Amino acid sequence: MKLFISADMEGISGIVDPSYLDPKYGVNYERGRRLMTDDVNAVIEAAVESGAKEIIVTDSHSGMNNILIEHLHPKARLLSGSPRDHSMMQGLDSSFDAAFFIGYHTRHGVPGVLSHTMGRPIRNLYINGQVMGEFGFNAVYAGLYGVPVCLVSGDNLVAAEAKELIPGISTAVVKYAQSRTAALCLSLEESRQELKNKTKEALEKRPQLSPVNVQAPLTCKIEFSHAGEAEMAAIVPGSLYEAGSSEVTFVAQNQSELYRTMRAMLNLADTVEFA
Ligand SMILES: [Zn+2]
Repeated sequence: MKLFISADMEGISGIVDPSYLDPKYGVNYERGRRLMTDDVNAVIEAAVESGAKEIIVTDSHSGMNNILIEHLHPKARLLSGSPRDHSMMQGLDSSFDAAFFIGYHTRHGVPGVLSHTMGRPIRNLYINGQVMGEFGFNAVYAGLYGVPVCLVSGDNLVAAEAKELIPGISTAVVKYAQSRTAALCLSLEESRQELKNKTKEALEKRPQLSPVNVQAPLTCKIEFSHAGEAEMAAIVPGSLYEAGSSEVTFVAQNQSELYRTMRAMLNLADTVEFA
């Protein structure tokens, strides 16, 4: 059994606000990295006990170099650093039996701890007309390789968002959102036990779960926060920008093209400066 783990940071046990997410904040960021590594370790430990033979962890937050390899469980390999064509899903292919999304968060504009979608310029993202956050976008990517997403961890609200797309998914809830930057957090002992229990449940239920099946070609619409960002994103060949709006649409022939085009547009939109 070969397992792919995409690990983000916002939905990690004990993390409630941006001070845990960025090196510029110092002490809390160092705590955040350790908390992230320990959540991932709990999942790996239980997955190994459940028979996983090969585990790849893809660090999926910001610079993607957050997990402390010196403290990572020895049975996993770590994909660390950036840039990468497929960002949070780099390293996945059809040889994997299951994907887990650890430390995830709800999409932009809805409640949930540190909710957002990919980066500051993106307000909403739609695939074939369906609004998607990072959970959905990455699950669609996994689906096109035929890999089911069997577990998500994070707050209670990302668990609900995940179940909307994949009703049978296992969810490890490590905190309850009180606002976008406040949560009622389980003790770390309780939280790690929840991660272990749900890892075992997810791997038992794996045969009943289907990959997310979205037919290509994939029409992707990105609604940016400002028209200026949409104008920059529309530099990407093949994109369609309706003047006067803040939306750009493109059609991707496959999962790789979908991910790379979204990333190119996001990076272009990120260059826009506002006074
Ligand atoms: Zn993140």
